[in-house]
Amino acid sequence: MEDADLDHARANHSGANHAGRCQCGGVRFEAAGPVIFTSNCQCGACRRATGAMFSTWVGFKDEQLRWLTKEPDFFASSPGVKRGFCAACGTPLSYQGEKWAGETHLLIGVFDKPENYKPIGEAFSDEALPFAYHRPPTKY
Ligand SMILES: [Zn+2]
Ligand SMILES: [Zn+2]
Repeated sequence: MEDADLDHARANHSGANHAGRCQCGGVRFEAAGPVIFTSNCQCGACRRATGAMFSTWVGFKDEQLRWLTKEPDFFASSPGVKRGFCAACGTPLSYQGEKWAGETHLLIGVFDKPENYKPIGEAFSDEALPFAYHRPPTKY
């Protein structure tokens, strides 16, 4: 079997219905159950952490998430905040903060099927770059 098939079989076995990885595959994860939220974040800290104009986050309860490899490395971007990344390839992966204790938020781009996570929220739109929106943001 190809690696991807093995991953798929393992995910099915565990009941996980979400899967993803960093660019090099050194950090892989799966999650089971419903996503608790999907949201864009326009804040400056996410912008710096990802290098992208804004970020899209997919949230899970910690107990839904399982790292299939080692955990990512973590950087504390501010007090009480852990941002996970792969030290080998540099891919940013996750966010955990005391403000949302018990949750892990994962960046949309690291999922195997990012098309499944349409953002329905818009956080920190006051910090958005003036050209961040192609059309006015929808707030929920
Ligand atoms: Zn990696
Ligand atoms: Zn943010």
